[in-house]
Amino acid sequence: MKRTAFAIGTLFACANAWAVTPGTHWDYSGDVGPENWAKLTPEFHSCAGQNQSPVNLDGFIEAELAPLELDYRAGASEVANNGHTVQVAYEPGSTLSLDGKTFQLIQFHFHMPSENQIKGQSYPLEGHLVHADESGNLAVLALMFKEGERNTVLASLWNAPPAVGKKQPVSPSINVRDMLPAELDYYRFNGSLTTPPCSEGVRWLVLKQPIVASHAQIEALTQAVGHANNRPLQPVNARIILQ
Ligand SMILES: [Zn+2]
Repeated sequence: MKRTAFAIGTLFACANAWAVTPGTHWDYSGDVGPENWAKLTPEFHSCAGQNQSPVNLDGFIEAELAPLELDYRAGASEVANNGHTVQVAYEPGSTLSLDGKTFQLIQFHFHMPSENQIKGQSYPLEGHLVHADESGNLAVLALMFKEGERNTVLASLWNAPPAVGKKQPVSPSINVRDMLPAELDYYRFNGSLTTPPCSEGVRWLVLKQPIVASHAQIEALTQAVGHANNRPLQPVNARIILQ
């Protein structure tokens, strides 16, 4: 792995913590499960913070949220299974403009079932598009999937997702913009990485309109990771959720 990619990886171990902090094993169940993440190492203390993700999105505050400004191009390059998720690396050059800042799309990955919920509803699959600006601020665009027809973008990413510890190229590349719904209305809140080190200060944007993937596609992702990979819901505390 190139040094730059490794450094970026430390910013959002939403997925690849096994490579970034090999000394601290965590998982989704048992002694190293979510209830104990904050105790596993001082590095993970934020997991006990007050502004954690995921949350149940409800009790919305009406706001004039700016239309999403996405400038994405084909850039999906490689898909890897790190045992926590299946993650697709993205080539530089695709951006989200938000709050006067430019966030580069770095990678996207999947949770089965969804981590966030919308008005108490869970979805079988949630995609996280992870962006970082030049100061290392993070913005995650989240996308819910419901079960339905085969998703053609997922189908063009892989015939089968890689096994744990394996990676494979995405060829030809795809533009993840093609996976997003027609309607880009979203909810917004402040949260954290949903995996250790659970760093806070992450801008979360959750698209209101779900898209579809087939039962077989969702099942293939779950089987590839080998277990559910959703962190339990976290308290909203003093935060507001905008719509
Ligand atoms: Zn995630």
